[in-house]
Amino acid sequence: MKAALIGNGIAASLTPVLHEAEGRAHGLAYRYRRFDMAGAPEPAVALQDAVTEAKVAGYVGVNVTYPYKQQIIALLDDLSDGAGDIGSVNTVVFRNGRAVGHNTDYVGFHRAFVAKIGPLQHDTVLLLGAGGAGSAVGLAMLDAGVSCLYVYDRDACVADALRARLVRLRPQAQVLVWSGATLIDGVINATPMGMASHPGQAIDLDDVPHAKWVGDIVYFPHQTPLLHAAAARGLHVMTGGGMAVGQAAAAFELFTGLPADVARMTAHFHTLTQEVPA
Ligand code: NAD
Repeated sequence: MKAALIGNGIAASLTPVLHEAEGRAHGLAYRYRRFDMAGAPEPAVALQDAVTEAKVAGYVGVNVTYPYKQQIIALLDDLSDGAGDIGSVNTVVFRNGRAVGHNTDYVGFHRAFVAKIGPLQHDTVLLLGAGGAGSAVGLAMLDAGVSCLYVYDRDACVADALRARLVRLRPQAQVLVWSGATLIDGVINATPMGMASHPGQAIDLDDVPHAKWVGDIVYFPHQTPLLHAAAARGLHVMTGGGMAVGQAAAAFELFTGLPADVARMTAHFHTLTQEVPA
């Protein structure tokens, strides 16, 4: 059984090793490789080539990460309801000659967020980054009880498109584009800022002086500059590790049809990173 991760700058991703170890625990001969597009002269062509190669070689599926979660949709035959709602795909299953897109970021983030941050009916939350992962994270936060969500993206059109999507999907929630100067209780970073390839942080915490908690979905490194800054202020923090394990477990189940042991995968993640994820 073969699967793969397609993305840009994914050499340090733990997804392959998490999948393979879970496969071994189930007695599967399961190989999970990387298609790293870093430096590809024509990323769109490289993406299409990687998908075709995986399909022709009999892969059970591929995971898709930054920056292809929306671009991949044009190459698929169908979408699950969740992926269609979110407008973003991180898992593609090849079956009966068809490529079907799913979104396991939603379930991975939802589980981690509820476990680590908890129910938040009265918090006003700022979501940084309205791309592929940000869409799943935004919807998951509304479903976890956040009733007022501000969205910020350096591309204002992208932020507004996500706002409109979330309002359509969850009309009872208040979703607005952030332009600064609002009383924000909590912040989630869903931009790539903080990865080795994107050093720095998407926000200065001085801009959200009332924030009580900060989460980051970047997980390599798992202690990002944003989380360091938040911890230095004594804020409650959530790393991207819980989401990383949760999305990998759900993708494993879609690829193999077998139940992933989330606790076992979490323990394995811990041995790899020394981090205890949510
Ligand atoms: P993407 O390219 O689809 O979206 C990123 C968005 O962030 C873009 O809209 C971009 O305009 C915006 N952005 C970039 N820099 C910004 C800045 N300084 N300020 C405001 N907005 C900014 O990427 P994606 O697939 O959504 O992934 C984003 C990050 O999330 C990546 O680092 C990825 O590794 C991480 N991720 C983690 C997990 C996990 O399991 N922990 C899962 C998915 C994605």
